[in-house]
Amino acid sequence: MRDFSADHRWLSINTATVRRQRGQDWNLLQILDACAARCIRAVSPWRDQVHAAGLDAVARTIRAHGLELSGYCRGGMFTYGDAAGRDAARDDNRRALDEACLLGAPCLVLVVGGLPGALTGRPAHQDIARARAQVAEGIAALLDDARERRLPLAIEPLHPMYAADRACVNTLEQALDLCDALDPGRSGALGVAVDAYHVWWDPKLQAQIGRAGRERLLAFHVCDWLLPTTDLLEDRGMMGDGVIDLRQLRGWVEATGFAGYAEVEIFSRANWWQRDGGEVLDTCIERFGTCV
Ligand code: ZN
Repeated sequence: MRDFSADHRWLSINTATVRRQRGQDWNLLQILDACAARCIRAVSPWRDQVHAAGLDAVARTIRAHGLELSGYCRGGMFTYGDAAGRDAARDDNRRALDEACLLGAPCLVLVVGGLPGALTGRPAHQDIARARAQVAEGIAALLDDARERRLPLAIEPLHPMYAADRACVNTLEQALDLCDALDPGRSGALGVAVDAYHVWWDPKLQAQIGRAGRERLLAFHVCDWLLPTTDLLEDRGMMGDGVIDLRQLRGWVEATGFAGYAEVEIFSRANWWQRDGGEVLDTCIERFGTCV
């Protein structure tokens, strides 16, 4: 296992971690500057932050700082109520792929969607099996676009508490079943993103990480699961503040041969988003060395 205690060479910052600092309101360019100033070598930006700062300006700033990407957040949301919804999702995912190419991302992270309409209020139906079939269909179609661009797709299974509204792919096993069905030759065009927050509880986790192997394991996200958790979406913990054995998990991930970035991804409305962004980044660096 790599030694992370001496430096933070393999730390990446998911830019949502400092997306909403109270009284500071950093745009993405400022976040990139703040990361570069701390010798953070990689980031994973969110599309809305890229659009707000301007795609070309973001690409220029990334190059100027010599930053790498550990992923691009995010594509997906494949489930639909009608044909127009299906086509809109496909078009939007193609644009996400083009942006990811321009920014030099190693993969497009997919949050696949839940029951159509649920995220904006009212689900069109209650048939989660149908939603899952639509996800498979949507990824199959997007896979052609991804292959053309040589930009891999990383399915991120989300914790089951998000099955209704964000992602009906909820375990690593389920994500890998999709990979095997849609890319049986393990071409490298399709894999998974393993996010500690979503999968730490899974009794099959170690075995499924081994099953993913180096070809399928495209991204590794870390934060911590707090006790108590007070918000389903925006109460993720800083590494070391919760119950996830991140060192053990990284051991399983690296046993596959994975040697990429550990990406810190924390959404924390009541705690970390209330603090100075520089303090948050400094804490990420410190905890990366002691807890990841
Ligand atoms: Zn994640």
